[in-house]
Amino acid sequence: MGLSTVASRSLKTDYLVVGAGAMGMAFTDALIDHADVHVTLVDRRHGPGGHWQDAYSFVKLHQASLFYGVASTVLGTGAIQQQGPEAGLQERAQRSAIQSYFDDILQRRFIDTGRVTFLGGSEYHTDGDSHLVTSRVAGETTNMEVRHRVVDATYLSPTIPATTTPPFEVGDSVPVVALNELATLGRAPSEFVIVGCGKTATDAIIWLLANGVPPERIVWVRPREPWMLNRSVVQPDPTVALGLAADTMTAAADADSLDDLFLRLEAAGVMLRIDTEVTPTMAKTPTLGTWELDLLRTVENVVRLGHVRGVTTSEITLDHGVVPLSRGSLVVHCAAAGLQYPPLVPLWGPDRIRPQTIRVGFPCFCAALAGYVEATRDDDRERNRLCPPNTLPDNPADWAQMQVLGTLAARTYGAEPDIAAWANGCALNPARIDPSRRDDPAVRAAAARLAGVVDQGLARLSELV
Ligand SMILES: Cc1cc2nc3c(=O)[nH]c(=O)nc-3n(C[C@H](O)[C@H](O)[C@H](O)COP(=O)(O)OP(=O)(O)OC[C@H]3O[C@@H](n4cnc5c(N)ncnc54)[C@H](O)[C@@H]3O)c2cc1C
Repeated sequence: MGLSTVASRSLKTDYLVVGAGAMGMAFTDALIDHADVHVTLVDRRHGPGGHWQDAYSFVKLHQASLFYGVASTVLGTGAIQQQGPEAGLQERAQRSAIQSYFDDILQRRFIDTGRVTFLGGSEYHTDGDSHLVTSRVAGETTNMEVRHRVVDATYLSPTIPATTTPPFEVGDSVPVVALNELATLGRAPSEFVIVGCGKTATDAIIWLLANGVPPERIVWVRPREPWMLNRSVVQPDPTVALGLAADTMTAAADADSLDDLFLRLEAAGVMLRIDTEVTPTMAKTPTLGTWELDLLRTVENVVRLGHVRGVTTSEITLDHGVVPLSRGSLVVHCAAAGLQYPPLVPLWGPDRIRPQTIRVGFPCFCAALAGYVEATRDDDRERNRLCPPNTLPDNPADWAQMQVLGTLAARTYGAEPDIAAWANGCALNPARIDPSRRDDPAVRAAAARLAGVVDQGLARLSELV
């Protein structure tokens, strides 16, 4: 779309936040809660929630709802599932609940209080000096006069199958669809060829199996083997969280290599892999239920010949070979990159703030933390000291690096009494210890176990990286 650089009107604001996805929403929410400022929130989508607006209908958070959203308002009820294969684990919101949640936050917390102006369906662009926002509907361009800061809440925006073309060539008349279309098929294909090895691929397969497709009618093209986190060890409970950290550091302290580290974590019940005969090379580590793992293992027709290069009506060409494509098959694109890995840059740069992860994972908590620190500190050097950027993991080395950087960052910001108090009251924080649990013997025991091994574990992780 050609964007007009001639502004027909001007608006003043304290903060211009670009991107109303989870990170832009979490940053804004924490900022306006702790500073008397006005924010203009811009998104090219017409509503908030970012990629959730284009997600497949059967997607759910892979983690507890409590860990997702904004700091001021819990997503869901914080209830533990009472029935089904995840009985005993925290509830996980579906797409519709996530969308309603963000709609409610935008209207009730942001717009109705007069603290935030939302410019939806609008593209942010700049001609160098000016900050311009062009409506994708009216075409009108607004010049934003920003009194304090511009916040780029698009820096980690993930790519998803619905909005990215498949990363392989698709011949004429080849039936290739994004997994979103599985829920709207008019006719059952003879075979489903699932391309991808991340969370969307596992979701597609579990959904197909749940809808009566026998595993023999699924072909799974897995370019890499993934490590995934056992969902039962990522729960909003301090004994579980401290136990996970202690298991991680214990495994690291004794590990001979990165592969050995992950095998030790598997033995400790932390990591899961689909095929125990193959050592995974991918470690984006979404969480997976053990019931999901059991289902995934029923699919035996697995193609491990690298990445797909192209698909015709009769065959699939991969890095290391060619396999036939049966007549009547449907190829399902689950191969968007998902997580993004832009260079780690200081969150507070001279031109803008770029929220990134700080602790280990949990983008919503990290964006909220950045909003809190922006509101409560007045020196960028200090803000950057408290909130160094962390990496998101793609492979085992990145994962180990993320543990090192995140543990050190949490020590730094956790040493500030006000941040520690805020973080302990914030449900998004997976490491939070509610004051009422501080003297719980189980929490104390888990904390002592972690304290006994953390330095050794960190030292070894740094060597392994
Ligand atoms: C399927 C899936 C499931 C996930 N599940 C979980 C989970 O359970 N727990 C968890 O913690 N994380 C989860 N994540 C990861 C997490 O959702 C994301 O990493 C993060 O929350 C994404 O939010 P975001 O705001 O960075 O990006 P986005 O959601 O992509 O939002 C960025 C927004 O910026 C807008 N934008 C970009 N450029 C411009 C521009 N120039 N002008 C105007 N607007 C612009 C886009 O339209 C978009 O709406 C999941 C991710 C996926 C894909």
